[in-house]
Amino acid sequence: MAELLFREDPYLASCEATVVSVQDNVVELDRTVFYPLGGGQLGDTGRIGGWRVIDTRKGNESVLHMLEPGHAASPGVKVEIQIDWERRHRLMRLHTALHLLGAVVKAPVTGGRIGDDKAHLDFDIEMEKLVKDEIEARLNELTSSSLETKAKWITDAELDARPELVKTMSVAPPRGEGRVRLLEIPGVDLQACGGTHVRNTSEIGRLAVARIRSEGKRNKRVTLTFA
Ligand SMILES: [Zn+2]
Repeated sequence: MAELLFREDPYLASCEATVVSVQDNVVELDRTVFYPLGGGQLGDTGRIGGWRVIDTRKGNESVLHMLEPGHAASPGVKVEIQIDWERRHRLMRLHTALHLLGAVVKAPVTGGRIGDDKAHLDFDIEMEKLVKDEIEARLNELTSSSLETKAKWITDAELDARPELVKTMSVAPPRGEGRVRLLEIPGVDLQACGGTHVRNTSEIGRLAVARIRSEGKRNKRVTLTFA
């Protein structure tokens, strides 16, 4: 099993690693700082040695780094790896912003996605209850309150006993290892989440509600961007 360094330290942008396997353009490493697509968050891009990583996906107990064609990676080679930090940090800010949005809008979350420069959650709620200016004001209150975020691990059994910790119906927390990670924004939100988050809500900066739109009976979509 590969060591997934982003779980303990999402601020680690680079490290040394050893190539474990290469199949066409897909490289697996013994350890990685690359977050793979999942939980609504895009996979990281960056570099492995001198080669460009264009996307990152989940593998079987590992991470699949998709290289640009024409690379010369081979098993056993030691490499310096590096994510595109500016992009990842934006994803971390938007991801943490969605935790705030999920707390501001009091309704079940039916879906969500974090992109390069915008992110959305879908809610099972009536459209008239979603007021753009109110949501925006509350979000910016929370980002400017400088709240520290905290991550901790609990067992699958503890999670089963507390179903309220799984907030996003369509995005189940990563399981199968006997433990899951919780992300807490004290006084605001507590939920199981495997993504990458900023340390403090002040790092998110000012947010804007770009759009509120109906995407179906149980999906009222609120899209955020940086203001
Ligand atoms: Zn999260």
